[in-house]
Amino acid sequence: MLLFEPIPAFSDNYVWLITDPPSPTAVVVDPGEASPVIEVLQKRGLELAAILLTHHHGDHVGGVNELLRLRQVSVFGPARESISTVDHPIEGGKVVALPDLGLDLEVLDVPGHTGGHIAYRGPGFALVGDTLFAGGCGRVFEGTSEQMHSSLTLLADLPGETQIYCAHEYTIANLKFAREMEPFNDSLEKRLEAAHRTRAEGKPTVPSTIAEELETNPFLRCHTSAMIATAEARAGLDLPTTVDVFAVIRGWKDGWQG
Ligand SMILES: [Zn+2]
Repeated sequence: MLLFEPIPAFSDNYVWLITDPPSPTAVVVDPGEASPVIEVLQKRGLELAAILLTHHHGDHVGGVNELLRLRQVSVFGPARESISTVDHPIEGGKVVALPDLGLDLEVLDVPGHTGGHIAYRGPGFALVGDTLFAGGCGRVFEGTSEQMHSSLTLLADLPGETQIYCAHEYTIANLKFAREMEPFNDSLEKRLEAAHRTRAEGKPTVPSTIAEELETNPFLRCHTSAMIATAEARAGLDLPTTVDVFAVIRGWKDGWQG
């Protein structure tokens, strides 16, 4: 049975460590920093088997070189981005075989946050980097609103029970913004209370599930009458498509101070 553990890095990043106990093999996802990863590997006697990268940002790839000095392993990453440490460039539709974990991962193209951002889908889970967050989504830095919206729609169409492993602990701030968008969403209110309790216990609020995100994440709810009304009031004009609604909400969040 696969085990997913978040290794905290920087102020709010999670490097996902995937193991299949009692096997000592480990795979890490988006190691922006090496030292917290090395500490966990050494303390637990784990052997790194591969590194998976979702996009080129420094807080996701910055630790790769140091990890490779520890052990030369395969580094999978987006073919459409330039990352010097990637020796297995991959894109949507490809499969990443991780024989040490007995795992095949399907690669999904999810551009928007960056131009070539990819996600990895396995049985019952997806590793989504900075595309979909618990209660929110990544900023649109390199792609377009159309791309980001269609990437989020691709993830939203995964089965409801799919566990979503994102790369940051942004949940409370995201849900506060979501409540601003949808003050009458009871599920959202409950989720925010639960997130406060979880964080007060020092625990991560991720993973979440697609079902939870569909109920509470404003960026997956741009088709709902509540979100359309909120976005149209903000924009002061009719927004004929869900992409228009998405673009208004994303722009609002970018400038939102809480
Ligand atoms: Zn990023």
